[in-house]
Amino acid sequence: MTAETVESIVDETRTIIEDPSYPMARRWLEEHPGGKVLGHFQVYFPEELAHAAGVLPLKVAGFDTALPIRKADAHLAAFVCSIARSALELVMSGTFDLLDMFVFPPICDVARHSCAVWARNFEDVDCQIIYLPHNAASPAAVPYLTGEYRRILREIEEVASTRVSDEALRRSIDVFNENRRLLRELYRIKRDTPWNLSAVEAYILTRAAGVMPREQHNDILRRALAAIERRDAKPQDRIKVVFSGGFCEQPPLDLISVLQDACYIVDDDFMVGLRWILEDVAADGDPLEALADAYLNHSDYSPVQHDPRKPKEDMLLHKIEAAGAEAAIIAAAKMCEPGLEEQVGYSQRLYDVGIPHLVMEFEEKSNTFEQTRMEVETFAESLLFEFA
Ligand code: SF4
Repeated sequence: MTAETVESIVDETRTIIEDPSYPMARRWLEEHPGGKVLGHFQVYFPEELAHAAGVLPLKVAGFDTALPIRKADAHLAAFVCSIARSALELVMSGTFDLLDMFVFPPICDVARHSCAVWARNFEDVDCQIIYLPHNAASPAAVPYLTGEYRRILREIEEVASTRVSDEALRRSIDVFNENRRLLRELYRIKRDTPWNLSAVEAYILTRAAGVMPREQHNDILRRALAAIERRDAKPQDRIKVVFSGGFCEQPPLDLISVLQDACYIVDDDFMVGLRWILEDVAADGDPLEALADAYLNHSDYSPVQHDPRKPKEDMLLHKIEAAGAEAAIIAAAKMCEPGLEEQVGYSQRLYDVGIPHLVMEFEEKSNTFEQTRMEVETFAESLLFEFA
């Protein structure tokens, strides 16, 4: 029997992530009649809480042109980012009619106010905000967040008509720890040998975590890692860059493809919520406290978490250095206030330390990239000459 290839696994996975009807979740519901589904908005949600209750957690991360906006515009102001529109459109159009509960983290004004819009329009869905600590560095943050996780867990138990034991939570933490380990390995390959794993492939394989049961995603990652190991591509003469700006609204896949044609994206913040926790979560002790501690103290950074221990410009510089990158692409989604704000700080710091970078904006619904192709090719070629 011929061993499966990275291409075949990625093709299969791409079909799943590009289908706004969430086909894997529908299959799960057929296999679990009466099962409940919890959706959550970007950036991070402790999915272990839903998993331990036998509820399927799904990440809602927007859609490109596969989901035209027809109804959501009537409910959101014109200056709101695209991801908030497409998340609402998913449900209003009936494409995503699976939800029993939906949780918004209060990452920005748009997400905070979206919760009320959803609650008013979808009376059958339990819409909640998970109130994250404002000061992540405070000694009160872990106890506070543990209590907030407990409150959300009680809501999930209510929706699923069940009680969740600490043991069930620990089993779920194990499943997600395995997922985080596999994703770390995927990103290690991308950093160390980007010629063996393209940015688009890594993106598709990562994003799939949010649209299917995590056990199935672990299987896909194991198969993909085994197939990548069999690859022996040759390095090409390309600059290595870090992409910043994909923490919430996602750039279209075709845009990532344009970028990877010109350079190796050796690290990024695409779907950072799925990779937010950087180490295994402790499986002993109070599992809710362990999850809260991991969120606050063993985690990545993003423009929507304010933590004085993680100065964002320093974190970006560290990421560039750790990935061995020569340059950066500093992007922001159109109309994204937190992203555009950070873009200024990142760009200024990179100027100060002399790291070449390209500043750009994107929108999940864009479908022409010729201008971007020209810009990124010029950027990459000028650097190749400089470093030659
Ligand atoms: S893209 Fe920006 S403005 Fe829109 S929901 Fe995400 S963080 Fe908020």
